[in-house]
Amino acid sequence: MNLNKPTAHEIVDMVGNGKVTAVEVTESCLSRIDEVEPVIRSFIRVDREGALSMAGDIDRRIAAGENPGILAGVPIALKDILSVEGKEITCGSKILQGYTAPYDATVVRKLREAGAVFLGQTNMDEFAMGSSTENSGYWPTGNPWDPTRVPGGSSGGSAAVVAADEAITSLGSDTGGSIRQPAALCGVAGMKPTYGRVSRYGLIAYASSLDQIGPFGKDIEDIALMLEAISGYDPLDSTSAPVEVPRFRDSLVDDIAGMKIGVPRECFVEGMEEGVEEMFRAGLEVFRSLGAEIIEIELPRIPYSVACYYILSTAEASSNLARYDGVQYGVRNREEKSLLSMYESTRKDGFGEEVKRRILLGTYVLSAGYYDAYYAKSLKVRRLIKDDFDRAFSVCDSVVMPTSPCTAFKLGSRMADPLQMYLSDIFTIGVNLAGLPAISINCGFDREDLPVGLQIIAPPFAEGKILRAAYTFERNTEFHKRKPEL
Ligand code: GLN
Repeated sequence: MNLNKPTAHEIVDMVGNGKVTAVEVTESCLSRIDEVEPVIRSFIRVDREGALSMAGDIDRRIAAGENPGILAGVPIALKDILSVEGKEITCGSKILQGYTAPYDATVVRKLREAGAVFLGQTNMDEFAMGSSTENSGYWPTGNPWDPTRVPGGSSGGSAAVVAADEAITSLGSDTGGSIRQPAALCGVAGMKPTYGRVSRYGLIAYASSLDQIGPFGKDIEDIALMLEAISGYDPLDSTSAPVEVPRFRDSLVDDIAGMKIGVPRECFVEGMEEGVEEMFRAGLEVFRSLGAEIIEIELPRIPYSVACYYILSTAEASSNLARYDGVQYGVRNREEKSLLSMYESTRKDGFGEEVKRRILLGTYVLSAGYYDAYYAKSLKVRRLIKDDFDRAFSVCDSVVMPTSPCTAFKLGSRMADPLQMYLSDIFTIGVNLAGLPAISINCGFDREDLPVGLQIIAPPFAEGKILRAAYTFERNTEFHKRKPEL
């Protein structure tokens, strides 16, 4: 039996009732990794011994009659942005090579307590800056549906490992779409929770007011399960919200009769690929046929979200990344004679092009003469975007949009034009600016047989509504069952 193929909830059942062992499941994933990694290249490091020893512990706990947790024996991959005590963490960057995390991120600790098994760290755009994983300081990752194409980004590795059945589920982070867009391009489910729902302690910061950790899964039940495991107030993150964590699995109800789904007029943008629009419209029909009411809404400030995001996120990044100066973390250029030249040459060699571009941009928009014109102005625009969503949620329960205007594109095809790459974040970024929860689910395939993502957005802390709509969609369609031929 291919034990790398089932979902997390199936594995928890099988391991829990003794049908299979956590070690067997882990071995299955490890051999799948050996099989496909030469083409997909989604892991920066695989921790064989670590994974097998965690799995062995779970099996021993089960044999001893202990309760091993809600994710007992589930092999999980972690984006290389999440701290695991004693393990190397590089955030996809050369500048952090050799740096070992001194503690567990809160989500990592929670997954441990839930009985998960860690397979290793996945590839990503350096410091989570990108939409294709091509900005990785190491190598690009291939899309399991067509390895000559990108898996999306920045959590491209975490999306690809789930699509390719190398890991059962995974964690990524989403600052402007980095969970939802790669989920869409790889044909899996990916969820960004409400800002504050999941602790950011131990997550390497890109843009702290936007960053949020979330899961990838093969189905919606796995998303609910993972969300339950990682959510909750954490005194170690001052922006974590003191709100109760519901049992998200209770929201898995196959019924959306009467749900009001808002579709923003602004989402039919120029440049959206035909295949995306076609499958998105077909997805709306699925919701309608299941009894949801589709209403046209307006999010008039959404067209400004990309500009707003690239000012605020780069401003925050320029500050967050100032700490990588060769003194405390990772690599140091030792040939330099003075402190200043050591800083300069470490950062020059350690950071890639995109990271440098964003530090420059962020430093510029925060500089004395431009702060009001750019940074302060963008904060106001951010508020207006939040107001747009608030207004929408006064007339509908959830908002549905495509996740990305395009399906997976060819590796290398968009690297020459960063602005074009930024514009492809148009549907995901507003959600981060407004701090909302959103999921991307597979709603079909375009003519080249590449997956298309549909996004469901809800008011703050209403993840349950999203799960219910996504679960109902999944129960009444077959798309999530298709697997790439690899
Ligand atoms: N693609 C967006 C960017 O390049 C979003 C990245 C993210 O969510 N981390 O910044």
